[in-house]
Amino acid sequence: MTATAYASPSVVNKPSGSYDAIVIGAGVAGLYQVHRLRDLGLNVIGLETGSGVGGTWYWNRYPGCRFDSESYIYQYWFSQDVYESWTWSERFPAQPEIERWMNFVADRCDLRKEFNFNTTVKSAVYDETKSRWVVTTDRGSTFDAKYLVTCCGMLSAPLSEIFPGQSSFKGKLVHTSRWPKESIDLNGKRVGVIGIGATGIQVIQTIASQCKHLKIFVRTPQYIIPMKNPKYGPAEAAWYKGRFDELKETVPNTFTGFEYDFVGAWEDHSPEQRREVMERIWNEGSLRLWLASYGEIFSDEKASDEISDFVREKMQERLKDPRLCDLLIPKDYGFGTHRVPLESGYLEVYHRANVEAISVRDNPIQCMTPEGIQLANGDVHELDVIIMATGFDAGSGALTRIDIRGRGGRSLKEDWGRDIRTALGMQVHGYPNMFTTGAPLAPSAALCNMTTCLQQQVDWITNCIDHVEQSGMNVIEVTKEKEDEWVAHHDEIANGTLVVKTNSWYMGSNVDGKPRRLLSYIGGVGPYKKKCDEVTESGYAGFAKR
Ligand code: NAP
Repeated sequence: MTATAYASPSVVNKPSGSYDAIVIGAGVAGLYQVHRLRDLGLNVIGLETGSGVGGTWYWNRYPGCRFDSESYIYQYWFSQDVYESWTWSERFPAQPEIERWMNFVADRCDLRKEFNFNTTVKSAVYDETKSRWVVTTDRGSTFDAKYLVTCCGMLSAPLSEIFPGQSSFKGKLVHTSRWPKESIDLNGKRVGVIGIGATGIQVIQTIASQCKHLKIFVRTPQYIIPMKNPKYGPAEAAWYKGRFDELKETVPNTFTGFEYDFVGAWEDHSPEQRREVMERIWNEGSLRLWLASYGEIFSDEKASDEISDFVREKMQERLKDPRLCDLLIPKDYGFGTHRVPLESGYLEVYHRANVEAISVRDNPIQCMTPEGIQLANGDVHELDVIIMATGFDAGSGALTRIDIRGRGGRSLKEDWGRDIRTALGMQVHGYPNMFTTGAPLAPSAALCNMTTCLQQQVDWITNCIDHVEQSGMNVIEVTKEKEDEWVAHHDEIANGTLVVKTNSWYMGSNVDGKPRRLLSYIGGVGPYKKKCDEVTESGYAGFAKR
């Protein structure tokens, strides 16, 4: 099945009132969390801002949006039936197909009826006298529950209001993650794109041929890897469907939650061998060069320099113009120290006659005017459409945009405004019975194949809730000491890498005033899982229970 017509959800399926658990979000994690808690026999409600399921794949419908993970790896592993009943059309499919798949999963597991859609959570307040969370929404509804599980996504709080004068722009202004369902006609238009992250690159390479004129506002250059995206037919489907058991076992235990793992130690290979390995993996056309070539590229300056030079050389071969090389090839940070996007013909876009790269490195965007974008030197670029591919308040933003109050009325926004802390990325001291997925200080905040880590977190949370229920307890809350221990462990590993030296959303440096800390645990997906399992096996040592 590659295409299903899915029914539009009725918006409000469940009334205000008391539940056992509230799950926020109907994306990859939220769907699975509702499925698991319902299977435990809990009365659960899911609350979702969108009108349908999909999370990231519901919101990001900008032109060119597609997987950077192989479709047969970006998967749920809890059901062989679900895995085998969906057939992908290509290795890295586009958003419409992914959204259809999410709807297929929701329908196959009959999950839609557990959610209220078009419903945004405004506040979540812990009532200490009753040991319950009270959640209010923009629809005026109120829900209370023993458990609150946030599945809000780690890249879901868009940075869409960042330039003075945005509301004065007379044309169409859109952030990529709020692209309208009815799309935007770019034909014959003067279009500006701000941002060349993974999103900007996908947009730019897709729309360049449609626009009359495309201006790309470039600040920090990006390393790239060319994507190879073969179509999948029956032979490929049979190949990956036949690997379900193998993949289910291997994927959660690799360094980044993909099927591949590192090729060996950097020092054990000669420069010629390393070159041969890099060439081979480069030609695979996937994220493997970044995530599973040599682990040392994340920590060893020499390894980082060598692989960075390799990629720079590849980019230079395609970008013949020295001005473009200067603008678009990174020089001052290492390959892979922030997210590396896959691309298809992206660099060649800059050679088109209708495309212009505007450097805003030393001449930043100052504001938007009714006509377009004004730079610091006073130049105004007149535009009909401005596309903001400016990214997200990652990891913490989805939660700090909700008024979350824990014990004693403490505010998560204020707490994380001082210091972003969690234990295992799944609980925060001071917020009893609240569990988080895709939150800071877990691999799921950036450095993993998201489905792998989100499922592992949902499984851990479900087991923890089951433990509380089976023990007849009311409350579980990580202690300050356990949280301190996790933060210290996280920081120790992070500070031994080069990732903390590069500015990007990984470090929170894309948001003014955000406390700096590597948002994602970089000790590896498999090792992280082991640490989570140890907590479970210890009977939740370091967690206060009553
Ligand atoms: P991003 O990586 O944070 O990139 C934002 C871009 O906007 C950067 O180029 C940034 O420049 C630029 N920018 C922000 N403010 C600016 C300003 N004032 N002036 C000029 N430029 C400005 O965001 P993203 O591209 O949306 O990607 C976020 C993440 O989403 C990715 O890293 C990836 O994890 C995920 N993603 C995944 C896929 C996929 O799997 N298929 C696709 C898209 C995105 P600076 O670098 O100079 O700040």
